[in-house]
Amino acid sequence: MPVFPQYLTDKQEDELRQIANSIVMPGKGILAADESTGTIGKRLASISVENNEENRRKYRELLFTSDDALAENISGVILFHETFYQKTKSGVPFVKVLKDKGIHPGIKVDKGVVPLAGTDGESTTQGLDSLGERCAQYKKDGASFAKWRCVLKIGNQTPTYQAMMENANVLARYASICQQNGLVPIVEPEVLCDGDHDLETAQKVTEQVLAFTYKALSDHHVFLEGTLLKPNMVTAGQSCPTKYTPEENAKATVLALSRTVPAAMPGVVFLSGGQSEEDSTLNLNAINQYKGPKPWALSFSFGRALQASVLKAWQGQDQNIKAAQDQLLKRAKANGLAAMGQYKGGEGGTASDQSLFVPKHSY
Ligand code: 13P
Repeated sequence: MPVFPQYLTDKQEDELRQIANSIVMPGKGILAADESTGTIGKRLASISVENNEENRRKYRELLFTSDDALAENISGVILFHETFYQKTKSGVPFVKVLKDKGIHPGIKVDKGVVPLAGTDGESTTQGLDSLGERCAQYKKDGASFAKWRCVLKIGNQTPTYQAMMENANVLARYASICQQNGLVPIVEPEVLCDGDHDLETAQKVTEQVLAFTYKALSDHHVFLEGTLLKPNMVTAGQSCPTKYTPEENAKATVLALSRTVPAAMPGVVFLSGGQSEEDSTLNLNAINQYKGPKPWALSFSFGRALQASVLKAWQGQDQNIKAAQDQLLKRAKANGLAAMGQYKGGEGGTASDQSLFVPKHSY
């Protein structure tokens, strides 16, 4: 008996590896459409659309029924539980709509951020109870990957050892449970951009958080080839007086990753974290152009930075659906190019320069 019995069969490992690799094929990334009911309500409120189940369904139908060309740049879509079981107006399950396009349906499985007692406003993420059963059911119902978001914040005394340790451990437990049920875990330790810290500080903290995360994944025997990482790009705090170029952000980001993320992990899919659509794309492009060790695919899993122009174009009106879908295709294409370091800039959508920052953002 080996000291560490392999917890996945070779066949299970092959399936996970194959899903993870197919999500980060060149020029492809993820649309994060897994906003919880409260969070999507804020998005809908910005265009004066009431937050009810039918309007949420209508909006997601708009996204998922975009032209098949969407699949040229979108390989996976993350869904919230309610959306995962919703259907188009004509009765086709969203999961089927996505699969028919060759897009992997994914599912957010965490149950949200909660305060970590004894800290200065730090948090952990809950949802491990019955996670195995939930993952098994989602897998049966068509999901191929999952997401769990943890949040760390930069302050004078934060993130603390306690917060980094706890969040790394809960991410590793989640990842292990997903893999046992055939779902590729997207591991998301998000260092928030709230604050006035500089780029160097953001880099140092991101390095520490990623180091804790990969130590925990190793401790829990997580099969790294069958995972993806969803980190923040390394950028200065939202209210930092110094402004940095995409090249400076790219260097800080790739350095932080290269110092902490094993080469066995196939792909980094960045969150947009409140950057404008255009800034997210320009930074992703610079990251891919940066000359330095980059053994993983570097792509996107954007929520706000893929949807701001769509929402603005839609305004809740049926006659605007096509125009809104065109905005999604445009941003998906721009990000697909950026994931290959080929984005030339200026593919602005209706909201491309708008800051999408939300203080202490929840999802
Ligand atoms: P943003 O791109 O809006 O930061 O969201 C991505 C996401 O899925 C956060 O968990």
